[in-house]
Amino acid sequence: ANGCADRIVRMPESGIREVFDKAAQYDDIADLSIGEPDFTTPEPIIDAVDERVRAGATHYTPTAGRSDLRESLSRKLARENDISVDPESEVLVTPGAMGALFESIHSLVDPGDEVVIPEPFWPNYHGHVASAGGTIVPVETDRKDGFVPSPDRIADAITADTKLLVLNTPSNPTGAVIPQATLERIASVVDEADIWCLVDETYESLVYDDREHYSIASDPALFDRTVTVHSFSKAYAMTGWRVGYVSGPSHIIDSIRVLQEHTVSSVAEPAQVAAMAALESPELLEEIRETFDRRRTLMVDRLGSVPGLSPVDPAGAFYVFAELTGTELDSRSVVMRLLEDEQVAVVPGSVFGESAESFLRLSYATNEATIEDGTDRMRRVFESFS
Ligand code: PLP
Repeated sequence: ANGCADRIVRMPESGIREVFDKAAQYDDIADLSIGEPDFTTPEPIIDAVDERVRAGATHYTPTAGRSDLRESLSRKLARENDISVDPESEVLVTPGAMGALFESIHSLVDPGDEVVIPEPFWPNYHGHVASAGGTIVPVETDRKDGFVPSPDRIADAITADTKLLVLNTPSNPTGAVIPQATLERIASVVDEADIWCLVDETYESLVYDDREHYSIASDPALFDRTVTVHSFSKAYAMTGWRVGYVSGPSHIIDSIRVLQEHTVSSVAEPAQVAAMAALESPELLEEIRETFDRRRTLMVDRLGSVPGLSPVDPAGAFYVFAELTGTELDSRSVVMRLLEDEQVAVVPGSVFGESAESFLRLSYATNEATIEDGTDRMRRVFESFS
């Protein structure tokens, strides 16, 4: 249309945008829709960047990223994820997890390929798969299983055209953390079907209670068919720096490198030294995780007193997925009512897939006062439904 190439026209706009645009009309918004920490990047990271930029970190770097950063990343992957990579050829620094996912999907998916994804899922995968010419095959997950995907259902969704399985653990929007035992069963399915696996571990450091994050690529049988995506955005409150990384077998990382060479050249060097500083301050991870854990408890507690809304206790990430139990309205209509009546912004479940129509996604990445105010406003609107 109007000269635009098909592969761009095919990319749908995220439904989250509609909430954003409508919320922008109001002055006094209680925003429970945002997907980023409300606080500024911690001081030790900013101080280190200040010093290193003054000392000359202002240049082009190798496409895959500074070699000292890639070495630090390979040590982190070994320590935290039990994934062993060669820093020269098996890890590459990207503009956020977003860049890593786009580049990975474009390096793996050809027109006509099917991509299996457990639903509900983050809507940006639609844009990445559609622009590569692939088709998403959603696999339903259930609330009663904590939205953990079933290995049998994944196996049933695989056809001769399937190229790739995309996993996201911990999950945006449900907060599901896929346990190691389930990931081991999924690994057998992937191996037997001879397909690829792309795992989005953007929220890996945000897991709660006694749960543990497990990386499927730590299974040596899976490493050669798995691409793993990580990010500094959520773990270190670094969304605006745009830095993430991708690891996997060298021929795929090399194809991602070529794609990145022709698009972004490399990640901005100041952002790369910020990532170095973050890796040098591992204590920040636990401080940030504890902050979100407190907010999680507060939000789930407060939602308990909202009639007609049944929250799922999140295992990870910083969202509560909450089921609409007392209204016939669809999730988008509820979201519009919340905005119009009380100026509280949340995201409709429908954005994350048809099977999530009766849910809302609320973010607790915001401060305690906004969580309290926002949930009060929600209670008033929900009381008016009954
Ligand atoms: N993956 C998921 C599941 C996300 O929720 C997000 C951000 O909201 C991203 C990836 C992108 O993160 P980044 O800021 O690293 O690009």
